[in-house]
Amino acid sequence: MAMLEVEGLTKQFGGVVANNDISFQVEEGEILGLIGPNGAGKSTLFELLTGFYPPDRGTARFQGRSILGLRPDRINRLGIARTFQKLKPFQAMTVAENVMVAAMQHSADPHKARAQALEALHFVGLLEKRHEHAKGLSTGQRKRLEMARAMATRPRLLLMDEVTGGVDQRSIPGLIELVGRLRREGTTLILIEHNMQVLMSLADRVLALHLGRKIAVGTPKEIQNDREVIESYLGAAYA
Ligand code: ADP
Ligand code: MG
Repeated sequence: MAMLEVEGLTKQFGGVVANNDISFQVEEGEILGLIGPNGAGKSTLFELLTGFYPPDRGTARFQGRSILGLRPDRINRLGIARTFQKLKPFQAMTVAENVMVAAMQHSADPHKARAQALEALHFVGLLEKRHEHAKGLSTGQRKRLEMARAMATRPRLLLMDEVTGGVDQRSIPGLIELVGRLRREGTTLILIEHNMQVLMSLADRVLALHLGRKIAVGTPKEIQNDREVIESYLGAAYA
């Protein structure tokens, strides 16, 4: 049994079918890359899997149990967390407080939540910044803060939306290292990533979406050579 089994997932917003009959599986311990042009339905897939929106159709089983229709906090406690494409930390709170708010979702005991928050901050390399206000962080540091917030809830499966998006070049190797370390610690990952070099170095398999549909799934090499993926996403430079 795969860790995550998704079958026929469908979500429509007015006339737009954001996710159209999407099926795939994620094996425990793997990194699945998720690609596709803007509007392909990548973020929507994350919203459905984390209970933010109800799907119109389809099923999703995490570690054998159905998760669709459950509330976000319930899904989070079952072991799925996500990071957001648009970073919105609580600006007036300190770095540590931002992570504690997330950790409290997982443990109601404030002492435990604090310990989990500090551990997560240590993991992402932000422990020294814990007393600073979140508004002073760089984009790369905010990505790390997002990761710490997700990790403080101790996920088994982490969904990461645009890991290196908007980050300056110098911060990218550190983020790649961090994702690799997460996997080695036993976290399974789905990664939305536009930087093909980053994706190819991290992903075991890649799922490609276009206009809400799955157009291909395979190894990074297979995906790079897939005609439909090249036409809809990778572009002429790859052809
Ligand atoms: P991606 O993350 O791949 O760029 P999205 O999942 O954000 O794509 O969006 C897929 C499609 O669904 C787009 O056409 C987008 O405009 C539409 N969409 C996403 N969320 C909503 C929403 N809450 N209301 C209406 N349309 C939405
Ligand atoms: Mg998106």
